[in-house]
Amino acid sequence: MKYEAETNTVKLPVGELCLLALRGGDLDLRPGARGIGLRRAVEGQEAHRLLQKRMSENGYEIEKTLTWIVETGDFKVEISGRADGVLQGEVPIVEEIKTTNGRVDRPPTALHEAQAMCYAWMLARKEDAGAVEVRMTKYRPSDEACETTVVTKTAEELEDYCTELLSRVLWRAGYAAERAKTRLPSAAGCRFPYHNLREGQETLLGECYRDIRHGKRLFVEAPTGIGKTISTLYPAVRALGEGSCDRVFYLTAKASTCREAFRAAKDIYNAGGHLRTVVLTSRDRICPNREAHEDPRGITAHCNPQMCPRAARFYDRVPTALCDLLDHGNGYTRGVLEKAAEDYGLCPYELQLELSEFCDILICDYNYVFDPLVYLRRYFAQDVPAERNVFLVDEAHNLADRARAMYSARLSLTDAETAWRALNPPERTAESPLTDGGKPLKDLILTMRSCRRLCREGAETDRDGVKHGYYITHGAMEKLTAQAETCHEFLSSLAQKGDTPPEAVALGAALKKFTVVAEHYDSHFLTFAERHGHEVMVRLVCLDPSEVLDTALSRAKAAVFFSATLTPPDYFANILGGGKGAVRLSIPSPFDPANLCLAAVTGVSTRYEDREKSAKKIAACIAATVSGKRGNYMVFFPSYEYLGRVLEAFRARYPSVEIIEQTHGMGLLGREEFLARFVDDGKLRVGFCVLGGSFSEGVDLPGGRLIGTVVVGVGLPGLSSERNILREYYDENGEAGYDYAYTYPGMNRVLQAVGRVIRREEDRGVAVLIDDRWREDRFRCLFPAHWSGIQYAGNQKELANIVSLFWSKDSETTKNEFLH
Ligand code: SF4
Repeated sequence: MKYEAETNTVKLPVGELCLLALRGGDLDLRPGARGIGLRRAVEGQEAHRLLQKRMSENGYEIEKTLTWIVETGDFKVEISGRADGVLQGEVPIVEEIKTTNGRVDRPPTALHEAQAMCYAWMLARKEDAGAVEVRMTKYRPSDEACETTVVTKTAEELEDYCTELLSRVLWRAGYAAERAKTRLPSAAGCRFPYHNLREGQETLLGECYRDIRHGKRLFVEAPTGIGKTISTLYPAVRALGEGSCDRVFYLTAKASTCREAFRAAKDIYNAGGHLRTVVLTSRDRICPNREAHEDPRGITAHCNPQMCPRAARFYDRVPTALCDLLDHGNGYTRGVLEKAAEDYGLCPYELQLELSEFCDILICDYNYVFDPLVYLRRYFAQDVPAERNVFLVDEAHNLADRARAMYSARLSLTDAETAWRALNPPERTAESPLTDGGKPLKDLILTMRSCRRLCREGAETDRDGVKHGYYITHGAMEKLTAQAETCHEFLSSLAQKGDTPPEAVALGAALKKFTVVAEHYDSHFLTFAERHGHEVMVRLVCLDPSEVLDTALSRAKAAVFFSATLTPPDYFANILGGGKGAVRLSIPSPFDPANLCLAAVTGVSTRYEDREKSAKKIAACIAATVSGKRGNYMVFFPSYEYLGRVLEAFRARYPSVEIIEQTHGMGLLGREEFLARFVDDGKLRVGFCVLGGSFSEGVDLPGGRLIGTVVVGVGLPGLSSERNILREYYDENGEAGYDYAYTYPGMNRVLQAVGRVIRREEDRGVAVLIDDRWREDRFRCLFPAHWSGIQYAGNQKELANIVSLFWSKDSETTKNEFLH
């Protein structure tokens, strides 16, 4: 729905009118549920050209443009669209064709009928006809089966029908007009919300603005403190106000960055850019239905009117809540949405999605755009024009691994057999689920079992007599994929008939992902089958996400990827789907390099084979680092095992030092408690953490809350068959395989960990790297410009001197005398 100020007209395509008007009734996510929820309303509108072509031989006009203009008093509404076919005659005929893969002999859906009736009414007006013959055709391309439902409607009947449809959506038009008349101009003229521009910020603002307007993909490496969030969001808001785009998606890897983005959007609002912003929260986090959380089948098993009162008549009740939210606010956080959902007894998850359609800035996780299973079809389905979106991708260094996970899937023989047993309990009766045939699941299990024979690579029998082996192919294993699809349909049909056991629901979810991933399978993927005794695991692995990300990025006019660590820039532009036209920008740190004491201790090897003997040396280096000044420090290790070893040595030598230890599988509460202990009280504390875990990035402990970090090792991910496959893949494609699989991801983690220290202009601190490889060119060439002052120490004594000299310039320094 669009408003045109010059003509005071709200423009509404027929398809959108029907979708919005028919969105009523219950929210119901059960497979096969009827009704017009949005997911089901976006029907396949693929090739029915063939059918149209055949009909055109008899004077049948295809893709006939029709329009209906209505005066509402406040503005005009122009509804338009293209009817699939029109045939003139005494009683003109209008035809609406829908392509389907299912049965063609079912009655037309409500959406199909509504579209046909709209075109019939427009045709009646245009031709001044008293009646129109309405044809609703269903067409199945696979066998060209075709059924047509024909009704004849008088012009009065058609007008009444369409006027009723329109009356259901007119309330939306008022908000569209208000947005165009006041909100967009305010965004176009909005001032930058802060008084002072930091060094480099102006460059970033200008480049973002230009690239958004020109539809580019921009990759920005800009250090902490430059104001990346505001410097990308503000130009996007300006471009939106000026009409270069319609919607901004601010995409994050973590909930904490959502909060920062919302603050920036609020500041822009207060500076005059009166746009609406919503923060989207995942179903898992926002659903208030306790029972749903405890159900092993997953929350969505409860998203229907029988199980959850918030789903009952959701689409009938949601407009009142939306009007309330729209009339009384502009920024919608999780708290605001939860309260509104509570007040109106609605599902908060679906309420936020409905509300998002009225918002200009959507702050959400990467999933909502990039995940092939959960991306927002209301914005990114094939028939929704995407060229008006802008993606701002925060902490973009995370996206490659996240995308690999989104586009990889696995099937387990054990899971399939468990589901089979759950569906076929020994006490099975005639009414048990599989009485109508379990062949698809049986076939899948047999094929999975037969995969064992393929797993001849690395074949061995261990001490317990268990056989192992694997099989790798660059093919999609088409038979298995086809059976997975059939089996998924079979389990969905069982779910439609009644309750299915959680094991079958879990298998259904795995099959769905497997099938969806298989649709994207190409030369950037491989299939990896692994045998462990009886178990066979088949995985579709996305090696190179550049192609799938490129496809997802085509849903936007422009994209800006930004992070403090996008080194080397070509690597990130390449794997994140930047393509040949990608623009790269690197902004230097705005902070005084003299505020960071950066040192590398190169007299210690942290290689796997040296870890036993290096523990004491590492402990001594940590002591040397913290000896210069009391305060809070974090030490990052390549593994929990190494962490434990050094911690033992450190505790034995320095028992009085307060230690805060990251533990395996720490939950949200544990992580919050861990960080809460980093208080600026002048005492010495050392946090022992793992590199690449929860604390080496996205943690903001400014000032005295963190005055130093130590990174043990060079950050390389552990050797694994997955990484080696990645390495081979990139080698074969002419890239530096080892660097792509190990060095670059490792260096990224190190840069992130070091970046925890200096968060503000006034911050001062130390960062120490421990490993003899830091002198090697392959790592040194990846150092950012602001690391040029790095100092090298051979041992802990030299390190202590470097640190001591640094802090000696600081008048408030209190040394940790006990360490000497
Ligand atoms: S409140 Fe929870 S269970 Fe109910 S519809 Fe929403 S997500 Fe589903």
